[in-house]
Amino acid sequence: MADVTIKEVYKIYPGNVMAVNNVSLYIKDREFLVLVGPSGCGKSTTLRMVAGLEEISKGTISIGKRVVNDVPPKDRDIAMVFQNYALYPHMSVYENMAFGLKLRKFKKSDIDKRVQEAADILGIKALLQRKPKALSGGQRQRVAVGRAIVRKPEAFLFDEPLSNLDAKMRVQMRTEISKLHTRLETTMIYVTHDQIEAMTMADRIVVMKDGLVQQVDTPLNIYDSPANLFVAGFIGTPPMNFFKGRLESINQSIYLVDPVLKLQIPDKWREKTEPFIGKEVIFGARPEDIGSPEAESRPVSEQQKILAKVEVIEPMGAETYLYLNTGNQSFISRVDAHRKVAVGEEVSLAVLMSKTHIFDAATEKLIV
Ligand code: ADP
Repeated sequence: MADVTIKEVYKIYPGNVMAVNNVSLYIKDREFLVLVGPSGCGKSTTLRMVAGLEEISKGTISIGKRVVNDVPPKDRDIAMVFQNYALYPHMSVYENMAFGLKLRKFKKSDIDKRVQEAADILGIKALLQRKPKALSGGQRQRVAVGRAIVRKPEAFLFDEPLSNLDAKMRVQMRTEISKLHTRLETTMIYVTHDQIEAMTMADRIVVMKDGLVQQVDTPLNIYDSPANLFVAGFIGTPPMNFFKGRLESINQSIYLVDPVLKLQIPDKWREKTEPFIGKEVIFGARPEDIGSPEAESRPVSEQQKILAKVEVIEPMGAETYLYLNTGNQSFISRVDAHRKVAVGEEVSLAVLMSKTHIFDAATEKLIV
């Protein structure tokens, strides 16, 4: 087991492609760290540099106390699980799992013990004699994980391991990998473009965009306090609603104003918002903070409500998503499943103002 330190690391591909731009991360021993971001943001490249599959252009990577910049992948004591599983098709499940240990000249009895133990953890004992082509996607992924487990590495690296699975299997493997992390107590670094995987599995999430780290924090802190507009829009489904507007001071209070909206900003935000009076801002409110049972259960003034027309109604069972338009702006609200509404109706929805956010329109950074 080990911690992993990524210090001021760059990856510049030929043609001056800055895939990773001055990334510094400290991954604690036994931590489950998830790198998340849209395609091309540099998350795989970062992981592959930790694995040693990609050279580092600048900076240092250490596993434990050892700087591994010049250590070949096989000597880094890490195991990687890939999206395409990378199983040997002509070998049985048993042989696939045993292969890495054989190369490392483990005794036959030790190999057998480790393979049986891993197969037991993953529930694939009955499949050991099969060839990969006779396995389902989920089973193949388990074998790929099994091959990593038998090595008992210092750290596990996962590169989009669930992307080739169907939706149901993805959800199941998600919990299995989380359980595995609890059981093995090993450092895990996991790359995904799927923010739900990041939210549900991570101890801490790293959000990346254009080779740059945008924010590093626990899933809930990222959800509740996104550092900027990108993180706010990327984490959460349906995504946070954004309203372009301007801050104005009216009768001692600060308001968010757009051509049709006028929302009173909580007084406790005065200090942070005052410098932005008269400036363009972006108001962010998650769908569950507009018109939800929690928002509607409290008495609020007209200055904490949004008037809008219902365009689409999507009942989800436990709640209903409303797609609305203020006349200037579309947004989504998660309302009580039994709320009586009709398409075309004008509704007035209470906003949980204390849970909303304001971003500087110029820098896209969080103001409050
Ligand atoms: P992600 O994993 O977030 O989808 P990658 O780390 O794979 O992103 O890629 C980051 C950026 O580096 C992308 O712009 C990609 O096109 C570029 N890139 C990746 N691999 C290479 C390569 N071998 N040569 C040149 N550019 C590359």
